[in-house]
Amino acid sequence: MKKPRSKLGQVFLKDKNILDKIVRYAGVREGEWILEIGPGRGALTEFLLMRGANLIAFEIDPKLVSELKKRYGLLIGDRLIVVEEDFLKADLKEKLKEHGIPAPLKVVSNIPYYITTPILEKLIRDRELFSEIYLTIQKEVARRLVASPDTSEYGSLTLYLAMFFDIEVLFNIPKTCFRPIPKVDSAFVKMRVREKPPIEVSDPKFLEKLIRFSFGGRRKKLKTVLKHNFGKLEFDKIESESGISLDRRGETLSLEEFEKLARTVKDHLKK
Ligand code: SAM
Repeated sequence: MKKPRSKLGQVFLKDKNILDKIVRYAGVREGEWILEIGPGRGALTEFLLMRGANLIAFEIDPKLVSELKKRYGLLIGDRLIVVEEDFLKADLKEKLKEHGIPAPLKVVSNIPYYITTPILEKLIRDRELFSEIYLTIQKEVARRLVASPDTSEYGSLTLYLAMFFDIEVLFNIPKTCFRPIPKVDSAFVKMRVREKPPIEVSDPKFLEKLIRFSFGGRRKKLKTVLKHNFGKLEFDKIESESGISLDRRGETLSLEEFEKLARTVKDHLKK
């Protein structure tokens, strides 16, 4: 058996109680198709297969792919499709079509943490292919995903993901459940794909830009952030029209408030 490659985020789940809990919480059913990112040596894959699920799994490390193929010889190509590819670069729609896998399907994965944000971004881009997404991620990141305004964990990632997913932290997983033991604790999260954003957004690009600017100038008043990025505007009017005081800091605003502000600022930029 080869040595885990820490560069590829190779820490493997060893605790059977946790693996069992993961498949129970993910509500894995017999005959359903599941997408797994980074099956590694197949710790989670095994539990998903035992529940009767069918799997398409993306693994970047050729050595682990051949270990998996040896281990699951009989199931390969039938109930288990192992794709040796960088998940971030994969054309998921095409792959599902190629193997006749119906979408939307569930994602259940213990992901490589070094690419957590790019994975989340890809899941957003391909969200129409998924029904529910269950991930083991770093505990600190999980807290950011569900943070409330005006807390240190609240950030642009919280707001961005809230547009597309309804997120819940299901349980924590201590680092001692993995081998090699990583430096950080983990959490298991559920992300239900929203049919439409929780609020109506008039210009998603402009909203995203405003959020990014506001968190870039953390601790700065909104008025300072706006002045810095858009020049001098009629701040009094923006305040009264949006109902948001520009003496507030960006990190205290909810998604809804950001949208109100974005709409108003955009109107003023047009004038
Ligand atoms: N699921 C296994 C488990 O729970 O024991 C392994 C999880 S390990 C945290 C992450 C796995 O993702 C590793 O096997 C690693 O080789 C693989 N990996 C890393 N980067 C990847 C990428 N870009 N695409 C697909 N797999 C990747």
